[in-house]
Amino acid sequence: MSATNNNSLIIAKFGGTSVADYDAMNRSADVVLSNPAVRVVVLSASAGVTNLLVALAEGCNAEQRADSLANIRRIQYAIIDRLDSAAVIREEIDRMLENITTLSEAAALATSPALTDELVSHGELMSTLLFVEILRQRAIAAEWFDVRKIMRTDDRFGRAEPDCAALNELTQSLLQPRLAQSLIITQGFIGSEAKGRTTTLGRGGSDYTAALLGEALNASRIDIWTDVPGIYTTDPRVAPAAKRIDQITFEEAAEMATFGAKVLHPATILPAVRSDIPVFVGSSKDPAAGGTLVCNQTDNPPLFRALALRRRQTLLTLHSLNMLHARGFLAEVFNTLARHNISVDLITTSEVNVALTLDTTGSTSTNGSLLSSSLLTELSSLCRVQVEENLSLVALIGNELSQACGVGKEVFGVLEPFNIRLICYGASSHNLCFLVPGEDAERVVRTLHGSLFE
Ligand code: ADP
Ligand code: ASP
Ligand code: MG
Repeated sequence: MSATNNNSLIIAKFGGTSVADYDAMNRSADVVLSNPAVRVVVLSASAGVTNLLVALAEGCNAEQRADSLANIRRIQYAIIDRLDSAAVIREEIDRMLENITTLSEAAALATSPALTDELVSHGELMSTLLFVEILRQRAIAAEWFDVRKIMRTDDRFGRAEPDCAALNELTQSLLQPRLAQSLIITQGFIGSEAKGRTTTLGRGGSDYTAALLGEALNASRIDIWTDVPGIYTTDPRVAPAAKRIDQITFEEAAEMATFGAKVLHPATILPAVRSDIPVFVGSSKDPAAGGTLVCNQTDNPPLFRALALRRRQTLLTLHSLNMLHARGFLAEVFNTLARHNISVDLITTSEVNVALTLDTTGSTSTNGSLLSSSLLTELSSLCRVQVEENLSLVALIGNELSQACGVGKEVFGVLEPFNIRLICYGASSHNLCFLVPGEDAERVVRTLHGSLFE
């Protein structure tokens, strides 16, 4: 089924802080209502709720469980208590809270990725129910839509991949016809696999949902409303002197997201770039402050665009004399990693050593380490393995970096006081990446930002 042309349709996505409480939800409702082109609204769970649900899903003792459940209830009831006529919604939220209790008791006995996804999906289910009620209170016709009816994914729980063909078809038959009748309020982050079990797209995945729905509906723009008025030259929490970037290309934004700029989920740009749909990033607290437009082309792309930081990186250094003049050693290492479902991120090699980091982005579980003991045993049968944890990856994002002269001196000249553990430069003209000890990471970013951007 081909996509209907929704020439002026905008998808608006609001993150956790934008639906954190009654006032934030009302500010987000103002943003939605200020633009009649917004026909589909994608929401995250209220701030803090997903973390609490993940903690429950990972199994905890009765006391911690009671604590987390009480916190979730408190966050949602703070909104309900300010609604005018809350009887129906209170019943619906109570039912969700009962489900959460039952599922978390099951998780305390045995955890599973499928159970985790079922449990954490309740955050988005509740925030969307409450937001519909906020709009109804303002006499706006809004419909709650369960995104799992159309967001078909594979069954990699915690980090599911969408089936875009199924999503497009289901969107056309189940969502498109409803757009003419009312504003649609739906969930980010969650989906369902072929058997109907709930899945999630990985932490921060609501941005990705908005972009996927934007593509499926042939939208004219995807608006990401968050707690910062745009994409900055680096995380403003790390370097307060960071400056807003008014326009940035898909390629640059994708590099930033991949290398840790949390403001966009790493996969968000894929559907947008495939379908050439511009993405706007702004603050729901201050929509008048404007934001960043991510699009196909910008005027005069600069050599240095931004700095990104990804924490908690694991570096594996593999040493084997068999590597010397040998063929096929790296293939064996990569095959082993692939069998364990691990993708390699950075890599450097020398005569008898290869050093690589493991890509840890985007999983719903907080259990970040990908290094299982069975993987270590297998690798150790091939070579000597050294593991270093708690490193941070700093990425300088830019344009034609590998063609410019003096980049190395400009970057590393100011980083003299720091230990640089590994450098990757030259494979991509859009980035230069290196690892530093975790405890130095923020100072490294501030130092480099000071010299390259301020
Ligand atoms: P939401 O809940 O709305 O999805 P997130 O917390 O996921 O919001 O993303 C917004 C946060 O991203 C900001 O508060 C900021 O600290 C962080 N961030 C990281 N890098 C950048 C950057 N380059 N520009 C803007 N924000 C960034
Ligand atoms: N609520 C989910 C999370 O906290 C998804 C999102 O916010 O994008 O990761
Ligand atoms: Mg986010």
